[in-house]
Amino acid sequence: MIECDVAIVGAGPAGCAAARECTRRGLKTIILEKKRIPRHKACSGILVPDSINTLSEHFGNVPQDVLAVPPHVNAMRMHFPGGHAWDIPIHGLMIWRDRLDAWLCKASHAEVLDETKMKSFAESTDGVDLFCVKSNGERLRVRSQIVIAADGGSSSMVKQIDPPLTARLTWYVALQETYACRCHLEPGFFHFFAFPKISLYPSAYVKDDLLVMEVVIKLKDKATLAMTRFKEHLWKQIGIEQARLIRRLGCRVTYAAPRGLFSFGTERILVSGEASGLLNLFGEGISSALASGRIAGRVSFNSIHQGMSPGRLYRQEIEAEKRKTISTFNYKTLLFREGSAFNFKKGLQALDWKERVIFSRNLLKWLLTLKG
Ligand SMILES: Cc1cc2nc3c(=O)[nH]c(=O)nc-3n(C[C@H](O)[C@H](O)[C@H](O)COP(=O)(O)OP(=O)(O)OC[C@H]3O[C@@H](n4cnc5c(N)ncnc54)[C@H](O)[C@@H]3O)c2cc1C
Repeated sequence: MIECDVAIVGAGPAGCAAARECTRRGLKTIILEKKRIPRHKACSGILVPDSINTLSEHFGNVPQDVLAVPPHVNAMRMHFPGGHAWDIPIHGLMIWRDRLDAWLCKASHAEVLDETKMKSFAESTDGVDLFCVKSNGERLRVRSQIVIAADGGSSSMVKQIDPPLTARLTWYVALQETYACRCHLEPGFFHFFAFPKISLYPSAYVKDDLLVMEVVIKLKDKATLAMTRFKEHLWKQIGIEQARLIRRLGCRVTYAAPRGLFSFGTERILVSGEASGLLNLFGEGISSALASGRIAGRVSFNSIHQGMSPGRLYRQEIEAEKRKTISTFNYKTLLFREGSAFNFKKGLQALDWKERVIFSRNLLKWLLTLKG
């Protein structure tokens, strides 16, 4: 058995940010990660300003080898039926997730046990036991005062903590394919296609001369069919020649925020990152993963040293991050408020009145698809 102050399940941005907060305050911290690090993750890899600021403040500047080429994303180019396309400015960095997360793991200074899957847990009044299995079949028990569940979008910890909430969630599947090919898709942009007939969220971009394509579909539909529809739509337009599939990644996603279906854990288990439901309208979740992970780490320290209730304190402290995520699903704040990662106000100002109406109508239609 291993004993520690804080055990963290998941070595993504939420888990690593939580670990960094714990280790800088001298807590014995262990991260458990089921995959071997570095691991790939279906993600476009755009760091919005909130993510960049949190990283540089708490981990240092993003290392050069984590960045893709080109490293900057200037805008989200929204393509609508009828050939309309508008740019929503972003000041983003494009990174590779396997490299970002490996860097964060190392920079967290926690003890990282990869290839170690948390299977079940038991919470008591003074701690939590995690029952884990390593990839070689070996069993491991980890005992800690507090657990931070940062196990991502389809969190097995949340499923065990709150089955009624999990049953109310609508699940989608995200499929990402990466191709080596020559194409004419403009780099430096995140191309988003508001074409619900293809899929909920078709997007494509160029990174290190590779074409990355993503679709999101309802669980009952076939992701590969949606990807075929998307390829039929896009490849003609951008003149693809000889595409070679390099990688295919998938994961489950849910949009809990517009329905207020969050789960922040129990008395000694603090749920952070996407596991808790923190994922905004554009599927951007790294900023809230880092922010909520930091809050969970800080709360762990304060509750251990000041004898406070970790669960109650966490639910108070996470409130602002929760509200921030919910606000992205409100088209009025999205279109008219400055300061969001995606500058819709500036994008709208570049259009004439007729275009603004078409754009707003299309955006609203797409938002309603998400809410439904
Ligand atoms: C297609 C797609 C594109 C996206 N693009 C962007 C983007 O451009 N920018 C952005 O900010 N966000 C993006 N997101 C969202 C972003 O990827 C997530 O919100 C973010 O990774 C959440 O971080 P996390 O630390 O909460 O979870 P994750 O990054 O998912 O990490 C969870 C970790 O927990 C591990 N784990 C799970 N279960 C166990 C277990 N039982 N035991 C041990 N380990 C376990 C997993 O292996 C994983 O490493 C995208 C998502 C998708 C699906």
